[in-house]
Amino acid sequence: MTEAPPGIEGPGFVATSLDKVIGLARSNSIWPLPFATSCCGIEFMATMGANYDLARFGSERLSFSPRQADLLMVMGTIAKKMGPVLRQVYLQMAEPRWVIAVGACASSGGIFDTYSVLQGIDRVIPVDVYVPGCPPRPEQIIDGVMRIQDLVKNESLRRRNSAEYKQLLAGYGIQ
Ligand code: SF4
Repeated sequence: MTEAPPGIEGPGFVATSLDKVIGLARSNSIWPLPFATSCCGIEFMATMGANYDLARFGSERLSFSPRQADLLMVMGTIAKKMGPVLRQVYLQMAEPRWVIAVGACASSGGIFDTYSVLQGIDRVIPVDVYVPGCPPRPEQIIDGVMRIQDLVKNESLRRRNSAEYKQLLAGYGIQ
């Protein structure tokens, strides 16, 4: 919240900026797209269950359609052959979109330092938050979602049109 302009203070008035209202709304209604290829996906299932309850963040509505998702959660080992598929899913998501790499495999290839495994999804798409662990516990996944909420809440509405953001995407060959 910001300071109320003079003359409109007192009970019944709230002053804020459009950026903050939109950030608050977006951060409490994130629709995740779970891209789960192996064991970390099982931890995500636990995170969605009643005990950990990701729904408390307004994220209970999982989207298996990229066009209706804000947050791409990549969980599991990503083979190099799967890289273009992951990239296509990312491209089909509308802006603003965010990405979490859940677990060691998605973040860095994990223990699979082999010819066939992508050594981190940031080789093909930009990543906002990395969650360590093999597998990470549901608490860690929830912490990753909360870090995304911080980013969403504080992101300027102009960021996606900025030269820096366009440069970041251009680095991945994305227009
Ligand atoms: S990080 Fe560990 S638990 Fe997660 S997908 Fe890789 S091997 Fe499985």
